Amino acid sequence: MSEPTGEAKLEMKQASKEVKESENVAEKYSAMTVSKNSEMGMGELSSAFSAVPTHKPVKKQIQFVEDKQEFSRFPTKAGRRSLSRSISQSSTDSYSSAASYTDSSDDETSPRDKTQVNSKGSSDFCVKNIKQAEFGRREIEIAEQDMSALISLRKRAQSEKPLAGAKIVGCTHITAQTAVLIETLVALGAQCRWTACNIYSTQNEVAAALSETGVAVFAWKGESEDDFWWCIDRCVNTEGWQPNMILDDGGDLTHWMYKKYPNVFKKIRGIVEESVTGVHRLYQLSKAGKLCVPAMNVNDSVTKQKFDNLYCCRESILDGLKRTTDVMFGGKQVVVCGYGEVGKGCCAALKALGAIVYVTEIDPICALQACMDGFRVVKLNEVIRQVDVIITCTGNKNVVTRDQLDRMKNGSIVCNMGHSNTEIDVASLRTPELTWERVRSQVDHVIWPDGKRVILLAEGRLLNLSCSTVPTFVLSITATTQALALIELYNAPEGRYKQDVYLLPKKMDEYVASLHLATFDAHLTELSDEQAKYLGLNKNGPFKPNYYRY
Ligand code: NAD
Repeated sequence: MSEPTGEAKLEMKQASKEVKESENVAEKYSAMTVSKNSEMGMGELSSAFSAVPTHKPVKKQIQFVEDKQEFSRFPTKAGRRSLSRSISQSSTDSYSSAASYTDSSDDETSPRDKTQVNSKGSSDFCVKNIKQAEFGRREIEIAEQDMSALISLRKRAQSEKPLAGAKIVGCTHITAQTAVLIETLVALGAQCRWTACNIYSTQNEVAAALSETGVAVFAWKGESEDDFWWCIDRCVNTEGWQPNMILDDGGDLTHWMYKKYPNVFKKIRGIVEESVTGVHRLYQLSKAGKLCVPAMNVNDSVTKQKFDNLYCCRESILDGLKRTTDVMFGGKQVVVCGYGEVGKGCCAALKALGAIVYVTEIDPICALQACMDGFRVVKLNEVIRQVDVIITCTGNKNVVTRDQLDRMKNGSIVCNMGHSNTEIDVASLRTPELTWERVRSQVDHVIWPDGKRVILLAEGRLLNLSCSTVPTFVLSITATTQALALIELYNAPEGRYKQDVYLLPKKMDEYVASLHLATFDAHLTELSDEQAKYLGLNKNGPFKPNYYRY
């Protein structure tokens, strides 16, 4: 093992000092529940949870560049027009795992103008059509099949009800997979009110199924921006019900409560945030000394990062490209901009299909990794005239400029896998000399005066999430992480979490992974006492220091 750095040693020392001070409730809880379950074959792991003193979560202070898109950008007036303008990027980027099968075009009446009642007589929800509930139930059951770890957590914890008394207000994509999470939270004792974090991604039938079971859902596919904020408000602002936990994806709900209901916000026990954008906003709030609630950054938990970024993109990049263009990759020249987690996943998938893959990078370490993996590292300008496909995955802006688009060859494909639609300078293509032709959903041909066509996918938004689906298994990992983070924050004794942003404790991250191993009938090797002593580890984890890079 390599020697830890001075900084890392300090961190480890600090962590071990903190171990005695607190015991992580969710770990203890998960220990108890795992040990009850022999079918998972994780008895050893579980006994570790109860036997071993646990680590206090280590705060991770990410340094962000100045971003004017902070909470201060929130409109001060709650007027409809100003609210519309304030809609966040994340609320229009599609992060849905599955497109709704129920097209909203058949009924133009706004759900806000309809009175709907579920079979129990409740009308505390607003969805497209409550009659689709049965169809939505079948979608949820299909999702459950590939979310066995979350279901197993639900079954084990059901009798303990670790979320009894929790009133969770949630703002996430409303899909079959999220429904499995919401129903798990309810099974664990929580009351939930839910809204969509994205105006396009709601599966209407799933929203109906949840509303039918009594979850107050305010969401439908194709909301206007005004609807979006109205739905958030209806979730939060209801008589006789005050949320005490937030589960957010993108920060819009947190943002809304912080600005509009400061007194309710102050009483929140914990925020669990999933997205890069939302986490970014939380850290900024914390830095400004304005975060008055403990928050858990689940976006940066190891399992989520690896599955969302690397493995998910490795699977879905081809799906998105093929569904939109029917392109064959064998022998095609593709340039992938950015060799981070997402870029690595894309490159691996494309290489496996026989594409000739080039990489662009600004970071020498990632560039060297690309070289070791057998990719040519180039500047975009060196290959711009010859490549058939450009894929951006940098999280940066203007990675592909108008000048470069001008030089691409006829029929080349341009798309983005990064978070926002800033990577390709799409705005520069909206000029009078260029003609746009929508040839398919999410596929535009941009035509130059000489007849050259460049195929632009999803108008430069995330390709996989706009044009294909995300594997349910990936969402199971995220959902399990979210559920554990909520249990932890809700049950933590006063003082364990200050008004700051925390990472998920490493042992909980390992626990999420271990729950999913059962799917593959994977058998973990156990450390012997001698080996554990030799490595200086507890036999039952955590197995890696916080500075370890997986
Ligand atoms: P990362 O930081 O690991 O990788 C990004 C890489 O891009 C870095 O190595 C960086 O050095 C490089 N880079 C930055 N500017 C560049 C430039 N101008 N030219 C070439 N390279 C440049 O991040 P990641 O985890 O790979 O995520 C990348 C983006 O994808 C983020 O915006 C993230 O939010 C998004 N994302 C998308 C999905 C998806 O399903 N499509 C999933 C997870 C994350």
